[in-house]
Amino acid sequence: AMYDHGRRRVVLKLSGEAFAGGDQLGIDPGVVQYLADAIASAVAENIEVAVVVGGGNMFRGAVLSESGMERGRADYMGMLGTVINCLALQDFLEGLGVDTRVQTSIHMSQVAEAYIPRRAVRHLQKGRVVIFGAGLGAPFFSTDTTAAQRALEIGAQAVLKGTQVDGVYDSDPHRNPHAVKFDRLDYNEVLTRGLKVMDATAVSLCMDNALPIVVFDLMTKGNIVRAIRGEKLGTIVCH
Ligand code: UDP
Repeated sequence: AMYDHGRRRVVLKLSGEAFAGGDQLGIDPGVVQYLADAIASAVAENIEVAVVVGGGNMFRGAVLSESGMERGRADYMGMLGTVINCLALQDFLEGLGVDTRVQTSIHMSQVAEAYIPRRAVRHLQKGRVVIFGAGLGAPFFSTDTTAAQRALEIGAQAVLKGTQVDGVYDSDPHRNPHAVKFDRLDYNEVLTRGLKVMDATAVSLCMDNALPIVVFDLMTKGNIVRAIRGEKLGTIVCH
């Protein structure tokens, strides 16, 4: 029954950067409200939405470890940071009357449920938004890889990677005015050309399991709902 469901089910990956809005650090309430509004509209359309939340606005393990901190510990700091974003999103969603559950890979029973895949699926079937925090609970992974893994485990049809650009380009569109956007890409092309979609672990996990990735601009109004519905936008990475 985990995979046998009639409704559309997606995993939306929200980077920590998004939560910070224009700032580098912390949480911009206006942005979290915007994200919650969009997710609420999609849920109202009867689509099952799980969210994997990043933590780049708090800590990134790789960056912290450059200053001499042990990588594993730094990564746990990063994972804990994602949970703060999860609680913010949960709060704004519940403010809109949307039922939510936060499930974390690191146990913290006062603030979140433990990650239990079958329970996550039940929540989704009941129309609740499930927000996954603390990544995979293991250092040296990313929340992008988490999004791919969760999507596979709960039988979602796609990973929707919301970013600050409207798709994948052959070079950085902020630096190169002649950068060309791809509408569709093959996983192998992403990996061999080193295109910035998700990290290689995440992309190869999607490739091995034929899980489509949709890369789109989060902050363009209407995009989140369109992506969740499965409308064509941004760049799709598939076979
Ligand atoms: N992290 C980790 N294992 C995971 C997921 C995340 O160690 O499974 C740590 C890692 O240090 C990472 C930080 O949490 O830098 C924040 O996650 P991420 O960088 O993926 O957030 P985003 O880029 O999406 O904001």
